Amino acid sequence: MRRPLIVGNWKLHKTLGETLELVNAIKTGSENSTEVDIAVAPVFTALSVARATLAESRVGLAAQNCYPEKQGAFTGEVSPALLKDIGCLFVILGHSERRQLFGEDGAFINRKVHAVIKEGLVAILCIGETLAQREAGTTFDILATQLREGLQKISAEDMKQVVIAYEPVWAIGTGKTATPEQAEEVHAFIRSLLASTFDAGVAQSTRILYGGSVKPDNVDNLMAQPDLDGALVGGASLKSADFLRIINFQKS
Ligand code: PEP
Repeated sequence: MRRPLIVGNWKLHKTLGETLELVNAIKTGSENSTEVDIAVAPVFTALSVARATLAESRVGLAAQNCYPEKQGAFTGEVSPALLKDIGCLFVILGHSERRQLFGEDGAFINRKVHAVIKEGLVAILCIGETLAQREAGTTFDILATQLREGLQKISAEDMKQVVIAYEPVWAIGTGKTATPEQAEEVHAFIRSLLASTFDAGVAQSTRILYGGSVKPDNVDNLMAQPDLDGALVGGASLKSADFLRIINFQKS
């Protein structure tokens, strides 16, 4: 049985004071949400403040990115080792904003997946098609390529430290959500790819999150789909009331 996982991606938002306020509210508000795993991904500079508040809470810490080297002359970068040191459990990788704005390709993302796993953390590998790709009918090809590239030389054993996040680019920050049926179709496809790439056990045990304008008013229908194992939440994770409602989804 796959435990649901809800991750808040705060992107480039929140000062230290705002971080403290939000993590305190999420910590308190999630105390009874025992059926779901929860994580938040603040900016790097707020990880330490978030960590101090979230220690011994139900809420794990995630990073939004990393560099695939342990240490060295890599100005401006942060390694999985340092993220582990500060208490992160998860690292979001291959987010469409990283692919589009920072030119990250599949090979580079794959190096990060390996580095994160090697450090004992969990990689949240994001994949997703653009609107143009969906309209051209290439969604499944794009997703298969991104998945294959991201998981190059990853073993079935390694997959215990991998979560997949399906994030259609056209639904991120746009207010447009995939319908539950559209999301389920893709999630089932991703699961079938995991079965053919690895085996049925990996396919059944790997969590596949949906991301793209998940909100309090659509989370219940999305989470009712059999292959949706949680959500990667951007905008709605910045308000405690919205995020707590999402954590407490009711399968409808
Ligand atoms: C995201 O950034 O991963 C995301 C899904 O954003 P939003 O929920 O705002 O669409």
